[in-house]
Amino acid sequence: MAVTEVAQSRRIVTEIPGPKSRELQERRVAAVAKGVGSVLPVYVTRAGGGIVEDVDGNALIDFGSGIAVTNVGNADPRVVERSAEQLGRFTHTCFMVNPYEAYVDVCEALNRITPGDHEKRSILLNSGAEAVENAVKIARSATGRQAVVVFDHAYHGRTNLTMGLTAKNMPYKQGFGPFAGEIHRMPMAYAYRWPTGPENCGPEAAAMVIDQITKQIGADNVAAVVIEPIQGEGGFIEPAPGFLPAVVEFCRANGIVFVADEVQTGFARTGHMFACEHEGIVPDLITTAKGIAGGLPLAAVTGRADLMDAVHGGGLGGTYGGNPTACAAALASLEAIESDDLVGRAREIGDLMLGRLRKLAAEHPVIGDVRGRGAMIAIELVKDDKTPDTESLGKVLSYCHSQGLVLLSAGTYGNVIRMLPPLVIGDDLLNEGLDILADAFARL
Ligand SMILES: *Cc1c(COP(=O)(O)O)cnc(C)c1O
Repeated sequence: MAVTEVAQSRRIVTEIPGPKSRELQERRVAAVAKGVGSVLPVYVTRAGGGIVEDVDGNALIDFGSGIAVTNVGNADPRVVERSAEQLGRFTHTCFMVNPYEAYVDVCEALNRITPGDHEKRSILLNSGAEAVENAVKIARSATGRQAVVVFDHAYHGRTNLTMGLTAKNMPYKQGFGPFAGEIHRMPMAYAYRWPTGPENCGPEAAAMVIDQITKQIGADNVAAVVIEPIQGEGGFIEPAPGFLPAVVEFCRANGIVFVADEVQTGFARTGHMFACEHEGIVPDLITTAKGIAGGLPLAAVTGRADLMDAVHGGGLGGTYGGNPTACAAALASLEAIESDDLVGRAREIGDLMLGRLRKLAAEHPVIGDVRGRGAMIAIELVKDDKTPDTESLGKVLSYCHSQGLVLLSAGTYGNVIRMLPPLVIGDDLLNEGLDILADAFARL
């Protein structure tokens, strides 16, 4: 099964996208529904480390990891080997029909590595949205309450319930309603845009949230507070210090299930195994997906045994949830994260990126904010008065793409550039990618 290693250097031999990619794009437009977009339509043949190779022979630098999924790198040999071995034995039985050990192994691993040393249980699913839906089902079943609290700039998925939980209308919700009821949206501690200044943001935002929950919903009616410990699609917004601990404390005092949606932040991405650890938060339930299995589709809800076990037998599940190949990949991927100390590597990546981006921001006032932790770093582009500068973002992104740097945007206002390199990327590629980004700003 050994695949020749992907050379760790950028190579641009055609314009981007090249002729073969453009041909494939024509076929795609005729065959694939328009609603599915692609940030950079170069068609991939192979990927590994910090490189994505395309059909035209280009080798691009990967600052996206397939949206924070290939934390251990693409096609990590251990992930490939272990999932291939599983594929050769059986492909599916459905855990609800005949169970298998790998599912139990993954749940044991999740119970071990997620924050808190209390007794835990897990359930495996297929996607992040499905994990969030199940966390809400579990919280409602365990508390007998209905209301769910979510936040401005939140992103939780594209199914009906999770569209309702997601803040941004376009493109996620437009025309797709009606949405589920009993969803209540609260202000987010967005330090860069907090009216009274970043230092007041955490405590003031927490006080507003607690006041609104109390006055508008009634704490006794709230089943769950669902929050991303660093918001992903919303623009890598780190809740201002003190905000999360205050919200957790309020939840504990009022029997509200605190759900950390770590679908994007999980598995070493932020320089901790989970982003909650940054402020010592121990969530009641935690949802995971993206970085869990080195690129294979898998998701999970992990949490307090008393909550997880409150649901009646047969109340949770799904045909494919915890597919054996995905479980094998997850076990290999988790071993790689731990044995290669990818938590430590994420911190190094963060230090390197933050250092260079802060210098760049000092030279270019269009970069209003540099933020994030570990290998989850963003810059927010603004005009003088902090008005979102989407025009500059478009120019920067298209220049970077033309030079073979896979780079994504984010943010409620569409003015944030986010960087999510695989945690196995080398410093050379990281610096080369940042050089391209710096050139893009110099050319504005
Ligand atoms: C991506 C994401 C989801 C949805 O995950 P899917 O696998 O796309 O369904 C949910 N929550 C967060 C925080 C995410 O980043």
